[in-house]
Amino acid sequence: MTGPSSRAESLTARREEILAQLAEIEQELAALRTDREGVDDDDEHDPDGVPLSAQWSGLEGRRESKLAALAALDEASSRLARGEDGLCRRCGRPIAPARLAVRPEATTCIDCAD
Ligand SMILES: [Zn+2]
Repeated sequence: MTGPSSRAESLTARREEILAQLAEIEQELAALRTDREGVDDDDEHDPDGVPLSAQWSGLEGRRESKLAALAALDEASSRLARGEDGLCRRCGRPIAPARLAVRPEATTCIDCAD
C-alpha cells in the first residue's frame, strides 16, 4: 500500500474523502426530504421500519461530524502552514504518527483527545 507521501497530500486526500461522504449524506437527506413531503399521500413504509425522523437525525449527526472533520482539516492545514503540524495543540507534544495516519485532521495527541 502506498500512502500519501506528505502531510499536505494526506490532508488533501482526507478532505476529498470527507467531501465525497458529505455529498452522499446530502443526497440521502434530500431523498429523505422528498419521502417526508410525500408521506401524507403515500403511506409506504421503510422496509427496515426505521422512522423517518430517526433516519433524519442519524444523517444530521453524520453530517455534523463530517463538517466538524472539515473544520479540523482546515485547522490542521493552517497549522501545517505555520510549521506546527503534528504537534498537539493542547500539550504541544508530538502526535503519534499512527494517530495521524488514521485521523490526518487530528490536532491533539491521544492523551488530549476529546
Ligand atoms: Zn496533548
